[in-house]
Amino acid sequence: MLTAITESGRTISLVEKWGKQELLNITENERILCPACKEKVQLKKGNKRIWHFAHLSKLNCDTGLESESEYHLKGKIQLYDWLITQGFNVEVEKYLPKIKQRPDLFVTWKGRHYALEFQCSTIESTILLKRTTAYLRENITPVWILGGNRLKRSSENIFKITAFDLLMANSKHKNTTLSLVYYCPATMRFCIVSSMTPFSPQTFFASVDFFIPSQLSFSEIINISKKYMIPNIDAWLLMKRRYRTNSYLFADHSIKKMFYEKGLPLCLLPGEAGIPIESMIWIRTEPVIWQGWILLTFILPLKVGEIISFQEIFQSFKTNVKRGFFVIRQIPSLSDSHYSFAIMDYLLQLERLGVIEKDGGKRSRFRIQTELIVPKNVEEACKLDKMTLMRLNKESNNKIM
Ligand SMILES: [Zn+2]
Repeated sequence: MLTAITESGRTISLVEKWGKQELLNITENERILCPACKEKVQLKKGNKRIWHFAHLSKLNCDTGLESESEYHLKGKIQLYDWLITQGFNVEVEKYLPKIKQRPDLFVTWKGRHYALEFQCSTIESTILLKRTTAYLRENITPVWILGGNRLKRSSENIFKITAFDLLMANSKHKNTTLSLVYYCPATMRFCIVSSMTPFSPQTFFASVDFFIPSQLSFSEIINISKKYMIPNIDAWLLMKRRYRTNSYLFADHSIKKMFYEKGLPLCLLPGEAGIPIESMIWIRTEPVIWQGWILLTFILPLKVGEIISFQEIFQSFKTNVKRGFFVIRQIPSLSDSHYSFAIMDYLLQLERLGVIEKDGGKRSRFRIQTELIVPKNVEEACKLDKMTLMRLNKESNNKIM
């Protein structure tokens, strides 16, 4: 940790630029305590590591500041400098006794409080969620900045994003897309990942922007106003081709079996299975699978002119969530949305593709408009994938990344 107090109550914060001797005079002549548990701490004065405080006994302190890495300490100091340069009132590791939390940086701005957490390591999800809830209860806005070490980029616009990382997505305002903010103290760059569109439980298409600290302000981070952009079509199609040729083999046995028994192997689902939609971030199960399930269960068995209802699909989907067949993601910052939005949005895309149409203007009932084409082989399937996406793209107002 970077902040301690003296017995007389004076705060010693190592983010301030101390003269070495000045600091040594204080720490050698006074007892230095942890602001949270009031136990004695000592100044660690390594030549290589950043100077920091450490408890003599870790028994009674659970604020989680003990095992900070060098990477974390460096980032915390740089983020502090970044905020100070913008003229903010910042407190380092301020102890909040009511909720027993010590956020990395505590910012007060225009009468509002923000707890900025620089999260480099993976901790228990429940601890992170508890922290978020505690801040909100105290009217403090949590701002999660992920360590740049967590950014896993597998190609230009494809990322591995874990369920834990998504818990730290910053809150979404109406009409803007969910985003993750990263900071890397080694390269001194911020990175904003947005328009996250999952292809599989951990593989996401997303857009990414890098900034040096002077190009990005704190207010821009708490009010990210990026619009959703659908993924690059060619990259998405390439991934689908890979899925149809071999990745489908890795799908869960029970899922493969269900499709196979209904006479439609996963690799030969119609081109309308697995189309990108923003709200499908809610569903952890592969979009090819859950969308394919909707087609197979509710649309393919019907004739042109027959009716399906959203309620019927959603109820059946919910049952499958309960029995673990489909998995839903936890995204605390999407409090005004729900995974049912993904199902409705998918039906609306099918409507745009001319597969179904609204039944007499009723929002939740649809009439089958055309018969779906079931491909005979993977080559044909890939052609249908392409035609489907091209048609959606033509209809779409969103620019392609
Ligand atoms: Zn302590």
